[in-house]
Formats: sequence, structure tokens, C-alpha cells
Amino acid sequence: MLSTINVQYLNGVGPKRVKKLNSLGIYTVEELLEYFPRKFEDRRKINKILFLKDKDKILLKIKIISQPSIIRLSRKRDILKVMGSDDTGSIEISWFNKSYFADKIKLNEYYYLFGSVKMNNNKVQIINPEIEIINEAKKAGRIIPIYSLTKGLTNNELYNITKNTIKKYKADIKNVLPDEIIKHYSLLDKKDAVEYMHFPLNGQTYKKAKDTIAFEKLLVLQMGLLTIKNRLKNSSVGTSFNNTSIADKFLMSLPFQLTNAQKKVIDEINEDMFINKPMNRLVQGDVGSGKTVVAISAMLNVVSSGYQAAMMAPTEILAEQHYKTITNYTKDLDIKVEFLSGSTKKREKKDIQVELKLGEIDILIGTHAIIEKDIVFNKIGLVVTDEQHRFGVRQRAMFSNKGNNPDILVLSATPIPRTLALMFYGDLNISVIDEMPPGRQIIKTYALGANRKEESYKFIIDKIIEGRQAYIVAPLIEESEKMELDSVVKVYDKLSKGYFKDYSINLLHGKMKSKEKEEIMNNFHDGNIDILISTTVIEVGVNVPNAVVMLILNAERFGLAQLHQLRGRVGRGKEQSYCILINESSSKKSKDRLDILSKTNSGFIIAQKDLEIRGPGEFFGIKQHGIPKYELTAIVDNLDIVEEVKSLSLDLLKNNPKLDGDKYSKLRNKVLNLFNNEEIIFN
Ligand code: ADP
Ligand code: MG
Repeated sequence: MLSTINVQYLNGVGPKRVKKLNSLGIYTVEELLEYFPRKFEDRRKINKILFLKDKDKILLKIKIISQPSIIRLSRKRDILKVMGSDDTGSIEISWFNKSYFADKIKLNEYYYLFGSVKMNNNKVQIINPEIEIINEAKKAGRIIPIYSLTKGLTNNELYNITKNTIKKYKADIKNVLPDEIIKHYSLLDKKDAVEYMHFPLNGQTYKKAKDTIAFEKLLVLQMGLLTIKNRLKNSSVGTSFNNTSIADKFLMSLPFQLTNAQKKVIDEINEDMFINKPMNRLVQGDVGSGKTVVAISAMLNVVSSGYQAAMMAPTEILAEQHYKTITNYTKDLDIKVEFLSGSTKKREKKDIQVELKLGEIDILIGTHAIIEKDIVFNKIGLVVTDEQHRFGVRQRAMFSNKGNNPDILVLSATPIPRTLALMFYGDLNISVIDEMPPGRQIIKTYALGANRKEESYKFIIDKIIEGRQAYIVAPLIEESEKMELDSVVKVYDKLSKGYFKDYSINLLHGKMKSKEKEEIMNNFHDGNIDILISTTVIEVGVNVPNAVVMLILNAERFGLAQLHQLRGRVGRGKEQSYCILINESSSKKSKDRLDILSKTNSGFIIAQKDLEIRGPGEFFGIKQHGIPKYELTAIVDNLDIVEEVKSLSLDLLKNNPKLDGDKYSKLRNKVLNLFNNEEIIFN
């Protein structure tokens, strides 16, 4: 079994490399074989020197036409230089600190070079290329996998380890899917699929391989989720929360009428809560559709029935805001609400721990700090997770394995197209708030080219003069990205000294201390800051009604769903609000994509369009499901596969829910092991 062979037994893998592989999450041969490349280098075509362009990364076949020369820069640094040519021209080849290599390069011999080209005053150069002797070439002429790496492990090393491992173990790779399924859906044998995922012969074999792997992974995931759902449905240990007195009082006290959608969802939740089986429900509703009220109502059911409720949010800012909202809503209800996060002071935390254990706290709100081992509830009845991207399916499974079987309510503002909803939330019952509270303003949205950035800044100043506030969002800079991105810090430096030097402008990003973030958010909320420049940390839930402009730089870099979320930060007050998307790309595709946002305010329509344009992988990238291990983003790019797996799993669930029979044994084991090694504690 490849899943039990440790990578330490592989040839060429010593203790040092084992550590490196482990840090990539690779412990077994199976994990190594399923550590798929993130992209490929096409080295199939030999290029001609005459036609090279600056920055091309290409393969050349050259003859060495000069003796290598070594230039010493210092005791430790040198440059090895040599000239090469093909029948169209000559090229200067140099390597840094490779002088030991000089006598391996022979005059008049032929070699393959692979690397980046530089044009320097009509001189063609290639620096630090990979070099292979023609007759011994392993990479030239092929498609080469590029892996995500860790410090101290090169692509070449991982390439070689993988290549050798496939050679040695290919025959032992067994199909997880039964033969008849493989045949019926025209998939590849797993052994070929794995090989082609790393070493495809061409585009077609890669696509077939990817579809095969995607099919298997999705089927395991889907069957896993459906199995959990079945198990939860059949387990009777749960609590009936049928006293709604405090919730009723709360709902009566609201200064507005609930929408019909909210009423419907509250009913669906209550129905779940009244029976003594654990609830597992997802409430999906667009930004601003009023999910918080629904969640509070559920928590108060639990409190009326003598139990405690907990609410988790993915960020400190959001958790803090929920805490404020909820204490405000419940101030006349004679219940105790507390807040706990990673930055709560020790003393304070101690107090909370004591009161929680004694049952004196009714509702605990916070970040994931509230599910740590040392947080013990007296009688936990309900766990609400808001924007659950970072709380996965597995955690929900864990709650229910802890003897304590609280109800689970998941809130999500990320609309998922219907076709994918079952795949993501196979283990949950779904309620949808498909109606906005009345009188919501439409946010005017403009997708503009980069040349209109300054105009947008002027617009922001106009709004500030009117007394309003604005957000400017910029993507984080990533080292690996070649493209010049507006990193927040750079944008902040530029704008705070330039355009907006006369205004109060602040920077917010994920790397800041939470105390600092909180202070800035509070200041922004209180109107002491005119412009907040931020990364997407402000994406979820932040509520500042006086902010009316959301300007997003490099908008083409974001998913539509994410842009829609960001847009939801404005339009929260009475004033007309604006969302300006600056598109730095000149492609038609990206313009069309961004135009969708200016045409609709419905998250569900946007999600559907995003699916059509970008494929399902993007949605798996949201990590809603909490199964990053599978890196489905990269693998699932074919919606047909998703549909096929969906109907197949429903079939299987109906006809053979336990996956009985020998031919299903591999699949059954995968499904059973899916959520196994996860540990999360809820006392
Ligand atoms: P989200 O679904 O994005 O979490 P919230 O629960 O934060 O939305 O609600 C957004 C705003 O709408 C809040 O200020 C809330 O008080 C208000 N709200 C919620 N329900 C209604 C309603 N039925 N009528 C009017 N306003 C509402
Ligand atoms: Mg919310």
C-alpha cells in the first residue's frame, strides 16, 4: 500500500529531504505521487536565436563556439562565460558561481540550454540556463512539471524524486474507482492518470489525467459529505430547544419588519431546533440580507432553553463587530454576552473561563479562540459560524464526535451557484435568504481602465468634502508574481504623500497586530479617518454606514464573488454609494468579467457568471469545504465532471449508501478516511 510507505525509504531521500517533503505535507509515497505540479514548462520546441525576444524562457540547441572564460568578481564570486550559436545567430551564455563547471563545456560540442533570454543592445544573452548534453538530455523535448516548493528543496530535486518514484511504484497504484465507473465515464486508469499529471505527453493526456483525478477526488469528497449528513440525520443524540421566549422578545423589539425570507429561514431553523437531533444548517444570504438577526434568534432559543450559544467569526474585526451588535440588540434581555479572542488579556480570559464553566455566560462570541481546548462550556447548545470559509466541514464533524452534540448553524455570504451548492454543502441542510430588506440602495458600480485612476481619486476627495468616507483596496504583493501589483503599502505611501496628503488616511492589512487593526477600524467607524487603504481583511462583515466609496485597484486580480463582497462594505447607510473597479488589464475577457458587476447587484447571478467564465475550480479555491489538502482549485476545471459526480453520488447513496461490495472497497476506505486525522476540540 503506497499510503503506508514512508518517503524516507525512497532512493535519494535522506533525513534532510524527508524533512523538506514533510513540510510540504508529503509523508507517504502516495502523498508524493499526488503532490501534483502547479504548472508546466513546455520544452518541446527548439527555438532559434534569431527570433528570440527579451525575457523569453525557452529551449535552445546550440554549439559551443568559444573557449569558456572565467571572470573573478571576488574570492567567492565569479562568472563563467562562453559563446554558443545555432544556424541563425549566436548567444552569450553566462553562469554565476559555476566556474567549476568550465571544463565540462567542450568547444564545438552541442548542448541544450533552457532559461530566460535577455536582449542587451542587440546582443542576445542567456543567464544561468539549465544545460544538458544532447545525448543524455532528460528534459529537453519534454513538458516539465513545476512544483510548489519549500526552502532547501529545488524543483529539480522534487522532479527527480517523483520521476524515480513513478518508475518504481507505478504498477502499485491501484484504482480507487470501480472499473465499471472508469469505463462508463471514459476515465483513465489511476496509474496512467498519476503519471500524466506529472509528466504529460501533451495537452490532451494532461486533460484526461486531470479529469480522472478530479472525478475521484470529488466523488470521495461528495460521498464523505453525504455520509456525514446521513450519520447526523440518524444519530438521535441532540437537544430539543423548544423555548423561544427570549428569541420572541428579541424579534418583537426589532425596529424593522423581518423580510419574508428571514421569517422563512427562522422557521426552518426553529423546526430543526425543536427536535432532539443536532441541527446542521447553512444559511446562505447575500451581503446585507440580514443573517445576523436570524443567527441571534437561534442563539436566543438556546438561551431560553437553559443552554449556552457560541458564535465564531474568522477575523477579530468581524467577531468584535458581532459582539457589539449582539450586546446592543440584547441589552434589555437580561442575558450575559462575552467576547473572547486570541488577544483577550490573560486575566480577562480566566474570568471568562470560570463564568463559562459555571454557565453564567449565555453567549460567547469570538474568533477560533473560543474552541480551544481550555475553553469549557457548561452546557453548549449551539455553535454559529459566520463566513465559515475557514471553519470546515471536518470541524463540524468533530463537534458531533465530542459527545456533546450542539446544533450547528453556518452563515455564508458567498453565493454558490446551485450546481455547486450540493458539492460544497453535501453535509448540510441549506436555507437561503433570497430577499433584501426593503429600501436598500443600489450601489453604482463602474469598471474603469487604469487611465481613470486619478479621476477616481478626485471623486473620493469630492465625497470626503461632503463628509463621507472611502475605502481603497489593493491586492497584496506576491513575490512570485511578475506583474507589477499595487501593493497596499506602496499605494499607501504614494497616496498619503500625494493625492490625499491633506486628508486623514490610514493603512490596514492582515499582518498588523489585532490591537492596531481594531484601533484603526474603530477610528474609521467613528469618522476620524477619511480613507482606509486596505487589503481584503475588510472583506467580510465590516459595517461603516458613512463609507460610500469602494475603490478597488487591480480589480482584475480578484474573483467576482470577492469583489461583490468588497462592494458590500459600502451602501450600508442612507447616502448613495459607489464601487469603482480599476482594471489594469487590457484583455477583453477581464473587462467583460468586471462589467458583470456593474450590471447586477445579485450575488447569486454574479456567482453563476463567475462559474461560467472561470470554471468551478475558483469556487473550490474559496475553501468553503475546509479540505485544502485536495487542492481542488487546480484540478477541477470541468463543470461536466462536477455534474457527473453529483448525480453518481446521489445514485450510489440511494442504491448502495454503505458502498458495500468488493469493487467499492477502495472507494469506501477513502471516504471513511476523509475526515479522520482532523483534531478539533469543543468541550
Ligand atoms: P448580513 O446578512 O450581511 O450579515 P446583517 O445581518 O449584518 O447582514 O444586516 C445588515 C443590516 O440590515 C443591519 O444593519 C441590520 O440591522 C439590517 N437589517 C436586517 N434585517 C432587516 C430588515 N428585515 N429590515 C431592515 N433592516 C434589516
Ligand atoms: Mg454578516
